[in-house]
Amino acid sequence: MKYYNLKDKKEVVNFKTALIRSQGREKGLFFPEHIPKFNPEFMESLDQFSDAEIAFQCMKDFTGEEIPSDVLRQIIAETINFEIPLKPINDRMYVLELFHGPTLAFKDVGARFMSRCLSYFLNGKNKKVTVLVATSGDTGGAVANGFLKTSGIEVVILYPKNRVSDVQEQQLTALGENIHALEVNGSFDDCQSMVKQAFADEEINAQLLLTSANSINVARWLPQQIYYLLALKQWRKTETTDPVISVPSGNFGNLCAGLLAHFRGMPAEQFIAACNENDIIPKYLKTQELKFKDTVATLSNAMDVSHPSNFVRILELFHHRFDNIKKKIIGSSVNDEKTLQTIKEVYQKYQYVLEPHSAIAYTALKEYLAENPGKKGLILATAHPVKFSGTVEKAVHTKIPLPESLAELMKKEKKSFEIEPEFKALKKFLLGRR
Ligand SMILES: *Cc1c(COP(=O)(O)O)cnc(C)c1O
Repeated sequence: MKYYNLKDKKEVVNFKTALIRSQGREKGLFFPEHIPKFNPEFMESLDQFSDAEIAFQCMKDFTGEEIPSDVLRQIIAETINFEIPLKPINDRMYVLELFHGPTLAFKDVGARFMSRCLSYFLNGKNKKVTVLVATSGDTGGAVANGFLKTSGIEVVILYPKNRVSDVQEQQLTALGENIHALEVNGSFDDCQSMVKQAFADEEINAQLLLTSANSINVARWLPQQIYYLLALKQWRKTETTDPVISVPSGNFGNLCAGLLAHFRGMPAEQFIAACNENDIIPKYLKTQELKFKDTVATLSNAMDVSHPSNFVRILELFHHRFDNIKKKIIGSSVNDEKTLQTIKEVYQKYQYVLEPHSAIAYTALKEYLAENPGKKGLILATAHPVKFSGTVEKAVHTKIPLPESLAELMKKEKKSFEIEPEFKALKKFLLGRR
């Protein structure tokens, strides 16, 4: 598969280059040159295939001949080595639990797939790659875990001091080995701006091979299609209509992956772009106008995004046809008050504990179904409630037990390197480590 740069369609690269470079000229995102269709018989009979085979069918066209089949199967086996169950909440709503991975976040799938592809391409060569990421919480943990002990790769994570949860901080700082956590005495925006400057700095790029591991990277974006197929396989055990799929969205990588699977032939009644008060896209779906504004801090902080990077990929998928976009995607914006109310209500009614991001998807789906009586749907639950226990416990008035895997991690020693929110401090760290 070849990928072209959405900002400069003459720039065409293979999977390996798109993976290592992350973005093209003028910071353009890479997009697959064609949309490979699923075999209709395969799509009709998902229940006949193992999850591993479904994931393989999903990914094989995107890596093509660059990764041999047996290697790709191995990468997939290591990527999804945990369950992704679809559970009914009531007679019209299901939840796809994407949070049983090592860092209890759906981002584990993309991070693990990317790390293993990168390590395959670097294997045997003496090049060292430095993965540089800024995180507001969840991305960093998934990336740290996904790249831990991967040979040839150093990971440098910037996070804002005192602004991530205890569990998140432990996931960033307690692993050691090839993972380096920089505790920045500033905000997430400071972290992100420092990382951007590093990518643009000639001196750093002359000495280090830098790559980013956020969701604009094709190797993090594409494997998310797998969630949707695994959801559908389970959905069909009890349902005969196609699902309405509600996706908690921030940077829109996840939703865009679902839409890609749909364009390839996966049936879906409708998609819901479920957002918090950062509602650029729901507003766009109403007015056809993209009006950017400052980010608002909310309880669902992994979705506090004011310039959703992957939206350009959605536009490209639909060939910029607004009428078609509007038909397939429903926009919804849910505020903090409603989010808390939903967490409380779902716990009281169904004894199911949602965290804030998933609660937004739930609220949006519930409202949609209320207006569309014949339909049923599912939400993508993107994080385990324990990662947002402060908020969740306030709503449900009960303690969320720490899963065993985390209990071990919480006992480990935190190791971070504190720096001022200045690019020169990051540069000194990066160049001093060589
Ligand atoms: C990253 C994240 C999201 C948003 O996903 P996008 O692909 O950026 O839209 C939603 N929920 C949680 C818990 C996340 O960590």
